[in-house]
Amino acid sequence: MVVAEQLAPYAGVEPDQAWAQEVRRLADERGAVLLAHNYQLPAIQDIADHTGDSLALSRIAASSDASTIVFCGVHFMAETAKILSPEKKILIPDERAGCSLADSITAEQLRAWKAEHPGAVVVSYVNTTAEVKAETDICCTSSNAVDVVRSIPADTEVLFCPDQFLGAHVRRETGRENVHVWAGECHVHAGINGAELADRAAANPDADLFIHPECGCATSALYLAGEGTLPPERVKILSTGGMLDAARGTGAESVLVATEVGMLHQLRRAAPEIDFRAVNDRASCRYMKMITPAALLRCLREEADEVHVPADVAERARASVQRMIGIGKPGGGE
Ligand code: SF4
Repeated sequence: MVVAEQLAPYAGVEPDQAWAQEVRRLADERGAVLLAHNYQLPAIQDIADHTGDSLALSRIAASSDASTIVFCGVHFMAETAKILSPEKKILIPDERAGCSLADSITAEQLRAWKAEHPGAVVVSYVNTTAEVKAETDICCTSSNAVDVVRSIPADTEVLFCPDQFLGAHVRRETGRENVHVWAGECHVHAGINGAELADRAAANPDADLFIHPECGCATSALYLAGEGTLPPERVKILSTGGMLDAARGTGAESVLVATEVGMLHQLRRAAPEIDFRAVNDRASCRYMKMITPAALLRCLREEADEVHVPADVAERARASVQRMIGIGKPGGGE
């Protein structure tokens, strides 16, 4: 696998007014809609037509009249947009933008795991490649993972992948022992740990805590709440979309946020009166930040990089995403 440290992002372009005008001009010329994930650089979020979490953006892509979608996010997200909109041209400004969580299970590994558990139902988080989704029975997001697993008969084994922290959250909430969890993780979220969270919470006793369930600290946050170290009403385990809704409704003056730091930009825009702080301000995803102003300009000028998913893989992957949508409100993924 190519690792991001070896990859130099496209560089040399400042996100100034001339850049913004040229991006908008090219997008209009191409009839393209610009979508940006919540973890993108602030300049990319600000120039986009829509910002959001991965699934919300894929649904916007599917319902848009535009024939070209520029997906500013990581590769599996652009693939998901292609799966849901096979007739559209899906571009990503830098196809090298991967995801350590999606890379933590391959389709071959999943096939081998399924062979060890015949009859088990496979539930995969949306942070997976199209090939893994094609091997999956039902996809899930962090908002509906618990409901998806509850929809499966209690005596049926479940294989949950790839995120171990989200899997632990599902096991705890459902009380099911027959949920087997793949030991994958996102390097950014796993780096936000419980000790750090406890320190920050103690130093900010009036702050609410918004925690993404992929975080290494999600388990500790619930544990600390359970033993009274953190008041349970202050701990909110939320998807990125859920964080935005909660930000608009919280009465707290300050909020500690445990997820990728790009999220702070959207939260501050949604509720400027609240003091949002990162639990770990080094939690920045290097893959997300490969979508630079230079990469976006190149993408629009050259119509590159285009995302392709083989038709048979897309068809099977689409079925697993649609089963999830049939079960209930998917809410937001990462
Ligand atoms: S923050 Fe983690 S899960 Fe999200 S894109 Fe980056 S590596 Fe993947």
